[in-house]
Amino acid sequence: MSDIEARLKSVIRDVPDFPKPGIVFKDITPVLASAALLTEVTEHYADRYRGKVDAVVGMESRGFIFGTPIALSLGAAFVPARKPGKLPYQRITEEYALEYGTASLDLHVDAIRPGQRVLIVDDLIATGGTAAATARLVERLGGVVVGMAFVIELTFLPGRQAVSPHQVDSIVRY
Ligand code: AMP
Repeated sequence: MSDIEARLKSVIRDVPDFPKPGIVFKDITPVLASAALLTEVTEHYADRYRGKVDAVVGMESRGFIFGTPIALSLGAAFVPARKPGKLPYQRITEEYALEYGTASLDLHVDAIRPGQRVLIVDDLIATGGTAAATARLVERLGGVVVGMAFVIELTFLPGRQAVSPHQVDSIVRY
């Protein structure tokens, strides 16, 4: 295990049966409580993607928290992918499957310009449905997904396969 993975694992909190029975929720708020750890996560991804990214797309809500400082550090745009009913201007929508039912995310139609290189950022990849839908939104606007960066990857779920052929980067693996 890398040092950064060990430091993050020592603070990420497991909350059993949240938001429903059988789910072990990975609570990242202790990471946010440490300016040093949040800086480490930000610099880890900024170093990896420096010079390769025009825009960072973060998914509501925790993708905003991690994606914005990475975008700032890269000198890239930050673009929010939002839940329905939140974005005020013209938008496109992609649906994705949840365990029960569906969810969807929106992007503003002018959020990404054709040919822009995009890094997708969220706190955690589980089944990959959220990230795959975000990649479809980016590609519908002509963007090029250069990577997907997560703090946490649940390796017992097929997230990597679900977003293939996109590249998945994670720091903490369970
Ligand atoms: P998925 O689309 O299945 O990859 O789920 C990813 C999204 O759901 C991310 O935005 C995560 O924040 C959230 N999520 C899924 N499973 C968990 C979990 N066990 N703990 C915390 N967040 C989760």
